[in-house]
Amino acid sequence: MNTAQYDAQLVIIGAGPAGCSAALMAASLGLTSVIVEATGSIGGKLAFIKASENIPGGWLTGPDLAAALTADLNRISSGCHLITGLAQAVASHDDRVEVLLADGRTVTGETAVIATGVHPRTASEAAWIKHNSSNTFSPLWRARPADLSGPAAVLGADRPLGTWLRGHPEFDGILDVFYTAEDKYKVDEVFADARVRLHLVESIEVDGAAPRVITAHPMAGRLQQFTADTVLLNLGSAPGSLPGLVQGPDGYCPPESQHARITTAGDLRSARYQRVITAQGSGAQAVLTHYYSTALTPPARGTHG
Ligand SMILES: Cc1cc2nc3c(=O)[nH]c(=O)nc-3n(C[C@H](O)[C@H](O)[C@H](O)COP(=O)(O)OP(=O)(O)OC[C@H]3O[C@@H](n4cnc5c(N)ncnc54)[C@H](O)[C@@H]3O)c2cc1C
Repeated sequence: MNTAQYDAQLVIIGAGPAGCSAALMAASLGLTSVIVEATGSIGGKLAFIKASENIPGGWLTGPDLAAALTADLNRISSGCHLITGLAQAVASHDDRVEVLLADGRTVTGETAVIATGVHPRTASEAAWIKHNSSNTFSPLWRARPADLSGPAAVLGADRPLGTWLRGHPEFDGILDVFYTAEDKYKVDEVFADARVRLHLVESIEVDGAAPRVITAHPMAGRLQQFTADTVLLNLGSAPGSLPGLVQGPDGYCPPESQHARITTAGDLRSARYQRVITAQGSGAQAVLTHYYSTALTPPARGTHG
């Protein structure tokens, strides 16, 4: 197959840690790549990691690593182009993969690595939360302490709660956290934090504009009412799948289930392993999988690495 028919040998969707690693690995193997990124920025969720203890290499914040990855992509810019655009679907063919963008463009590659990550679950996706459909709530991990001067409620006790508290030692308010038995095992790390009041519930109702009234049906005891100026979501994540990908029963997109020309990487693969280092490793592995498969033009293989 003549590579002139392609925009690049490899199309990567998403410029988070997984997509950036894929681009770097591709460049080291002499493969051309195009990264399609909705925001136009490099690093994905790294922007929201204010403090971390498990990113190897001495990176203590996500933005520091994002800046280093930006420099890496600039270094390989002769073989890797960044396109700002929202991918809407992928179409796999015998000889190519096409990525369809929301603005009508199509990007074509011999193979593709899809690394679109996850997005926060909405209140409508949680059966235990009843709310007025006009209510939309922001995710906790995007909140700044300066925005939380009044009473604040958090719906769900997913892991970002502990990360957010560690990342914002200057926050000296109180978060009323409502969560169900499903999240019970996650609250250990915040149990002793005086800035958190934990409420184990069966269900809640959220009414009104600010201040909102939260009616909680506890696991034990009587119904309770709270008011909150701010309601934040912390319900975990949903995979950023695209039409054309094969999803498992939980909505995630395992690499081994995809078309031979497509590999998934990073958080999109599984609800487990959602970490920076695993995203980076899987992005690199996805490219090597294509490199050693028959999907890439033969002369590209075996001369680099
Ligand atoms: C608050 C917070 C704290 C965290 N703390 C840590 C920590 O301390 N240590 C750790 O290891 N991990 C941490 N994580 C998890 C870590 O950030 C993720 O595991 C990692 O970023 C996943 O990388 P990824 O490349 O798979 O996805 P992402 O980082 O989510 O990147 C996906 C990229 O794809 C783009 N995209 C999505 N859909 C489309 C589309 N349709 N078209 C084009 N582009 C698209 C997005 O804009 C984004 O740039 C944290 C996450 C959060 C939210």
